[in-house]
Amino acid sequence: MKENTISKQLTKATAKLEAAGIDTARLDAEVLLAYVLNSRRLALYVHVAKELTLGQIKRYENLIQRRLERIPVAYLVGHKEFMGLNFAITPDVLIPRPDTEVLAQGVIEHLQEYSREIKIADIGTGSGAICISILKFLDNATADAVDVSARALDIARFNAEKFNVTDRINFYEGDLFEPLAGKKFDVVISNPPYILSGDMENLQPEVAGEPHIALDGGADGLNFYREIIDAAPDFLNDDGFLAVEVGENQADAVVKLIKDGGAFSYTQVWKDLANIDRVVAAWKK
Ligand code: SAM
Ligand code: GLN
Repeated sequence: MKENTISKQLTKATAKLEAAGIDTARLDAEVLLAYVLNSRRLALYVHVAKELTLGQIKRYENLIQRRLERIPVAYLVGHKEFMGLNFAITPDVLIPRPDTEVLAQGVIEHLQEYSREIKIADIGTGSGAICISILKFLDNATADAVDVSARALDIARFNAEKFNVTDRINFYEGDLFEPLAGKKFDVVISNPPYILSGDMENLQPEVAGEPHIALDGGADGLNFYREIIDAAPDFLNDDGFLAVEVGENQADAVVKLIKDGGAFSYTQVWKDLANIDRVVAAWKK
């Protein structure tokens, strides 16, 4: 049996990743091999007996080695799919999570009924995944996207170009709403950092390698919600709404902050596929 076939290399790499306790071992092995071969993952199955060149094997082994060091696949291949779109990703941005699609989808559903121009503010845009995907689904939407990280904004700008929405999006470097002074929006969205500072030491190794400024939500994880809930009403039109992603077990606390603030008339909680409360939405009074 030849050692350098696609089939053999996949088996070998999967075994190494499994032995290191990576639970997506086979998937990761396939995605990384497809990346080396510049092909689709499913194409590997059609060519299982194909032999790799020594150069390809070297590149593959190098990638597997880096994956064993717990570098996420998205950082190794430089992209991640979100809402069916393939976003460019570097270690300067948080890797967009499937759970966050609940936020993008919910916002799209609520905005679909409008035929006029819709204005969106995205606070902490990172790779731009949420607001760029919303713009791709809603032709009548425009967005102002803010991030405190200039390097993240470079990636978000690259993605806006990649998906042809540069004429409908503006990027601002700054703290939360500060660059948007005096503006009004139909919806304010945010997936803010929400991990408790005390939990930052015990992150899964893959997450620990993501920008900490994208993760740390302060002592109780709620710092950004306090500021956003306090400021958002000034930036919303009368029938506008706020939609924020929340961490597991944070929805009740965030709903309470909204009620205590008194500027919103009603709230909704949207669940993710695992039935976990994932997004809190609130309509302005
Ligand atoms: N929206 C992206 C997503 O969902 O994949 C990224 C979300 S990430 C959890 C939070 C983002 O907020 C990071 O890009 C981080 O740089 C940004 N951020 C952190 N503090 C901020 C602040 N004070 N003002 C604006 N953005 C901030
Ligand atoms: N969803 C990320 C995680 O669980 C956290 C992102 C955030 O803080 N918004 O690792």
